[in-house]
Amino acid sequence: EELKYVFGLSSFSLAIPSTKDMDDMAKLSLDLIQKEEGKTFKVITRRRDKSYEHSSETVNRHIAGEILRNTDLKVDVHNPDVEVLVEIRANETSVMIGKINAAQGYPVGTQSKTMMMLSGGIDSTVAAHLMMKRGSYVEFIHFTSPPYTSEQALEKVLDLSKILLKYQNNIRVHVVPFTDIQMEILDVGPESYSITMMRRFMLRITNALAESKECFAIVNGESLGQVASQTLESMKAIGAVQTLPILRPLITYDKIEIVNLAKKIGTYETSILPFEDACTVFTPSNPVTKPKDYMISNLEEKFDMDGLIEDAIKGIEVYDFVYKEENDKEKEPSFL
Ligand code: ATP
Ligand code: MG
Repeated sequence: EELKYVFGLSSFSLAIPSTKDMDDMAKLSLDLIQKEEGKTFKVITRRRDKSYEHSSETVNRHIAGEILRNTDLKVDVHNPDVEVLVEIRANETSVMIGKINAAQGYPVGTQSKTMMMLSGGIDSTVAAHLMMKRGSYVEFIHFTSPPYTSEQALEKVLDLSKILLKYQNNIRVHVVPFTDIQMEILDVGPESYSITMMRRFMLRITNALAESKECFAIVNGESLGQVASQTLESMKAIGAVQTLPILRPLITYDKIEIVNLAKKIGTYETSILPFEDACTVFTPSNPVTKPKDYMISNLEEKFDMDGLIEDAIKGIEVYDFVYKEENDKEKEPSFL
């Protein structure tokens, strides 16, 4: 069950050790395949030990013969339901049956670190999963605006990150206090630019943190056209304040594809819990879809940019989670 979520593994099989005696191999194969009633099979022998006395074809026939005599299974060499794999090595010989698909991708940590902007929504968690799948070690940043965002909203974000522990066995979430900045954005106005301004603040803070943590890129869950701040015009206007590249693994995904992925990953049910995150509470009724550069620079002159960013970074709280086996008692593999 746990190997299924390990990136870098393509598939795995249960292997039972055997002696080099063909009768032993046949008996083990028969035991393993017995309950696959009515299915077709094929025996594949890999003779890694070239000094082994029988050819792989001889072993195949011997084992297949034993199975055919004792079950109603039939051979299909082109498209079998079940493969019996026999591997003969110098030091060990094993019989394997069935193949369980794993998570594919590359092992987490084979690429450098990235900083993921994690909201409580469906998209960003899926984007984080896709980055891990490409081998990047992902660290998280989340913006909260208490008391406008609730304790439960933060809990939800932390719960989402904990679900990802199956894929990356330790996870760090930096929680940034964002209330002061949001209140100031509302004060300065206009409402239609509040999301643009908010996003630029978020990106500046994320960039500063990411650089200090030696991340090579910022990642978010944006998908082209999904909301006002996810038009190309908005992305250009917002994504002009940072030095690190912004990666958007979901940029071309439809919502339905993202939802299906979230269900597969196991984050969907938590993502749809109705606690509002920093953005939804302050959502304007008429967000600008084509923000103007001169508007942005005029507005930003009104803020004590460095002071606000410095205070937010000083207020960061860090949450660390480590993967633990919930149930370490010995379990019978479910496919036996
Ligand atoms: P999501 O489902 O990931 O929340 P969304 O479709 O709701 O995405 P937005 O709310 O516009 O879209 O957010 C776009 C992206 O900005 C998110 O995918 C996430 O990466 C980032 N983001 C939004 N809110 C926050 C937050 N409170 N903290 C950190 N990152 C955030
Ligand atoms: Mg959101």
